Amino acid sequence: MTTTVGVIGLGNMGGGMAATLARHDFPVFGFDLSQAARDKAAAAGVTPVNSLTELLAKSDVVILSLPKAEHVERLCLGGEDAPVSDAAEDHKAESLLALARPGLIVIDTTTSTPETSRKVAAALAKRGIDFIDAPVSGGPKGAASGSMSMVIGAEDEVLARAKPVLEAMSGSRVHVGRCGAGNVAKIANNMLAACHLISTAEAVAMAARAGVSPEKLLEGVNAGSGRSGASQVMFPNWVINKAYDSGFSMGLMRKDVGLASDLAQQLGMELPLANAVAQLWNESRATLDDSEDFCAIVQRTDPTLFGHGA
Ligand code: NAD
Repeated sequence: MTTTVGVIGLGNMGGGMAATLARHDFPVFGFDLSQAARDKAAAAGVTPVNSLTELLAKSDVVILSLPKAEHVERLCLGGEDAPVSDAAEDHKAESLLALARPGLIVIDTTTSTPETSRKVAAALAKRGIDFIDAPVSGGPKGAASGSMSMVIGAEDEVLARAKPVLEAMSGSRVHVGRCGAGNVAKIANNMLAACHLISTAEAVAMAARAGVSPEKLLEGVNAGSGRSGASQVMFPNWVINKAYDSGFSMGLMRKDVGLASDLAQQLGMELPLANAVAQLWNESRATLDDSEDFCAIVQRTDPTLFGHGA
C-alpha cells in the first residue's frame, strides 16, 4: 500500500523535503500558514491543503518543519501558552493530539528541544501516535535534493516503519538514541557550526592581513586539519562571494545557539568556548537583524573583508 505523507511547514526546509518526497512518488500533502509557501509547494508537485484536519485525514506519516520547539508543542498538543504568528490564530483550536488517528507516525525535523520531543511523544503515545525527532543538516539545497543528513531519536520499531520515508528524503541518517536524542545531537552540531563560523572568520582575516588571500587560505585549510563545515561549505558558497544567501536565517541560528547554552546550563556544565561564542552571537543583535543570513556573523570579525560593500 502506498504511504501518504503530510508535510507541515513548507518553508526553506519543509518545502524542499515535500518536493523531494513528491519526486519519489509519495502522494504528498502540504500545509503552511503562508499562502505563498503553499503555492510554491504546489508548483513542486505537492498537494496543498487548507487545514491540519484535512492534512491528517490524508496522511499516514506527518513531517514537521517548523521554526521552534514552541511551534511544535502548540501544533501537536494545542494550548494557548506558546507564542505563534498572527496567522496561526485561525488554527488555534486544531492540534495533532485532538485530530490525528492512531497509527500515525510523526517525524519532527524542526531543530527543537529534547524536552519538547519527549513531552510531545509521551502525550501522543497515549493516543497510539508515534513521534520521532529527526532534525536535519544540509540547508535548503540538501532538503530539495534529498541529500540532507538526519540525527534521529526513536524507538527501533518506529524507526523501521518510518524508514522508507526517511530514506527518500535524506542522504544519511544516524540513529543516536531514543526520542529527544536527535535534538541533543543537533544542538551539539549547531554549537560547533556557530563556533566554526567565527573561528574560521578569525583565521581567514588574520591570514589576509598577513598577505594570504582568503581563497588560497581556504584551499590550504581544507587540505589540512583546520577544515570544517564552515571552511568547506559556508565560506566558499556564501561568504567569500558575499552572496549571504544560504537560506538559514540569523534568527534561527541564534535560537540554536541559545538551545546549546540552555542545555549546558541544565546539565550544570561550564563550557568557556561555547559561552564566549554564544555571547558574540547575542551581541550581534545590535548590528545584524534576525532576517539576515546566519553567515553574516563573520562581518563582525572584519567588516571590510567580509562586508557586503567590501
Ligand atoms: P522557515 O521559516 O523558512 O519555515 C518555517 C515555516 O513554518 C514557515 O513557512 C511558516 O509559515 C511555517 N509555520 C509556522 N508555524 C506553522 C503552523 N503552526 N502551521 C503550519 N505552518 C507553520 O524555516 P526553515 O529555514 O525552513 O527552518 C525550519 C526548521 O529547520 C527550523 O527549526 C530550523 O532551525 C531548521 N533547520 C533549518 C535549516 C536551514 O538551512 N534553513 C537547516 C537545518 C535545520
